[in-house]
Parts: sequence; C-alpha cells; structure tokens
Amino acid sequence: PPRLNEDFLKVVGWADEIRDLGVEANADNGPDAAKARELGAEGIGLCRTEHMFFGEHRLPAMHEMILATNDEERQSALDKILPMQQDDFEAIFTAMKGLPVTVRLLDPPLHEFMPDLVSQALKVQELELTGADEATLESERTLLAQVRKLHEQNPMLGTRGCRLGMLYPQIPDMQARAITRAALAVLDREGETVQLQIMIPLVHLEQELKTQREIVVKAVDDELAKAGKQLDYKVGTMIELPRAALCADQIAEHADFFSFGTNDLTQTTLGISRDDAENGFLGWYESSGVVQRDPFATIDVDGVGQLVKMGVEKGRSVNPQLNTGICGEHGGDPDSIAFFQTVGLDYVSCSPYRVPIARFAAAKAKLAQADAAK
Ligand code: PEP
Ligand code: MG
Repeated sequence: PPRLNEDFLKVVGWADEIRDLGVEANADNGPDAAKARELGAEGIGLCRTEHMFFGEHRLPAMHEMILATNDEERQSALDKILPMQQDDFEAIFTAMKGLPVTVRLLDPPLHEFMPDLVSQALKVQELELTGADEATLESERTLLAQVRKLHEQNPMLGTRGCRLGMLYPQIPDMQARAITRAALAVLDREGETVQLQIMIPLVHLEQELKTQREIVVKAVDDELAKAGKQLDYKVGTMIELPRAALCADQIAEHADFFSFGTNDLTQTTLGISRDDAENGFLGWYESSGVVQRDPFATIDVDGVGQLVKMGVEKGRSVNPQLNTGICGEHGGDPDSIAFFQTVGLDYVSCSPYRVPIARFAAAKAKLAQADAAK
C-alpha cells in the first residue's frame, strides 16, 4: 500500500497542536481501525457491530438469531455468534493499541437481516405449485410466518438498537461477554492494554439505558470475575432521537458518555428519510431555495444543532464529567465541526479517510472561536 506522505503528516501534526476537539474514527474491523490510527485517529468513536454480519458467511447466524421462534433457538444462535464477535473485537482492540474503542451494541434495522416478505411469500407459492415435498414446504411456511410477524412498515423507526436488547436481553449479554473476553485476550499479551467503552444505541427513555446498562455491567463484571481480572470500562449511550436530547439530564444519570448520532437525529428531527434523501425530495428542497444545503452533509444548526447543544448542557448539568462526542456523518464535515467546537463537544468521530480533514477542521474551528472571543 502507498505510504502516507511524511510532509503531509507533519502539516496535520501542526493542526493537532492547535485543536482541542479530539478526533476519533468510525471503524468496524481490524484493518479499518489500523488505517484510522495511521491517519491519526485518537480512538474508535463508533464500532457498528451489526456491520460485522454483512458478509455472506455471517448472515446465516444472524438470520437464525433474528428469526428464532423461542428463547432456546435464539440462545443456540447466540452461542454460535459469540466466538465470531470475540474475534471481531480482539482484532479492533489489537489494532488500536490501547487507544479508546467504543463498541456499540447491535443496532440492526431488522429488514437488513431478514428475507424479504414478498419474496418469501412468492417462494412458498412456487413450492406449492410445483408440488415440493412436505418437509421443505413446512419449513418455508414456518419461515414465512416468522417473517410476517417481524415485518415492519418503517424498519428504521422499528425494532432497532436497544429496543432489540429490551425484547431479548440475551443479545446485549452475549455481546458484553464477547467484548470482555476479547479485551481479556488482548490484556493477556505482554504490554498490551485496552480502553473499553460500551455504547447503547437508539435510547429515548431513561429506563432503557438503565436496564441495558445493568445487563452490560453484570455480564462484563461476571466475565472479569471468572478470569480473576480487573478492567476499567465505561458505559454510555447514543443521543440520536429528539426525546433523548430533550431528556438528556435523566439519561445522563446512567451514562458515562454521550455520542450524538446526527444521522438518526437529523432524520427524526426533520422528518426526512436518511435512506431516501439523496435521490428524492432534497433536490427539490434545494432548488426551491428554501434550504441551501443537505442536512445529512452539514448539520442543520438551527434544529438538529440546537438539540445537540441542549443534550450537552442538560447532560453536563447532571454529570459535569460527561464525555461528549459525535459519530454521525457530520463528524467529518468541516462546517459541522466548527459548530461542534462552539457547543463544547469533547471529540468528533468520522470515517477513517476523513480523519486528517477533521484534524484540520478542528484546528480551524478552534482559531475561529478564539477570534470570535476577541
Ligand atoms: C447516527 O445515527 O448518526 C449513527 C452514527 O448511527 P447509525 O448511522 O449507525 O444509525
Ligand atoms: Mg443511528
């Protein structure tokens, strides 16, 4: 691979002397984490664990877990997933060499991991017409019934994030154990350390975070006790729904850190689908002259931005030590970074290749803030 230009790294290094915003990266595997560190990331601000199941060899285990019809089936799928996840986390901890790693618990829109309802219904119909054997028909019909049960009209507003963990506490329990075992494996190696943060997604109620935190702490502490080891770790949450920002003081009672998820926060505050915005009505929105920007690229300061500001203030009113960052796409956008500086976030987290830009932007934002204060 081409080596990073040394002059370039030197210039970015000057920016580092100026900025006070931390710059971390979003990465879900060892190679991306290593690339992020090479580009100057000071940690992993978001590791999306559902992304670890996109590969075809991983999908069957995820299907089994999501489509399970009872606890026994689900636990058997989770038992298969745990060692896979342990390997995933170990690779990331190893790549980050002791820098902070924030692992987010599963946040899968269910439709991304399930057969499509219509395709499954057509499959059953075709099997019926072609006179398939009873056993095949039976199993495809059972699958269809389960897909129908789990089908959601708006999966992005459905059983995502901690809602899944609230329904099936075995899932956060499994992930917390896999994370801890991975951390222990790294700690067993001479001279290696791990800075662990576990993040709960899509929280909008205090009770959700309280419950999920309890599950995580119990599982992590149990794994540590079994190994006779100690490890400091933090548990925090995403703030990515308007209610979470509005009630950030209640939520902060149970959080060591907040990470603002401005992708979902933009979607839910503006009522614009993040998945359809690019090719759809945003073009019209822009050409009408009403809004001159894409709110998913540069933060909507007056709306979403005010919720971030409120979230930081309310959170810190309860916990002055609360660490605050952003891990939505805006974390790599210079204009948004300028806004995050004024709000007083501690760090931004962006995709690995945007890390150098974020380092420059953070320095520029700091200088602009100093100028404005004169
Ligand atoms: C977000 O919503 O901003 C976020 C970082 O989470 P995801 O994009 O995975 O929903
Ligand atoms: Mg999100």
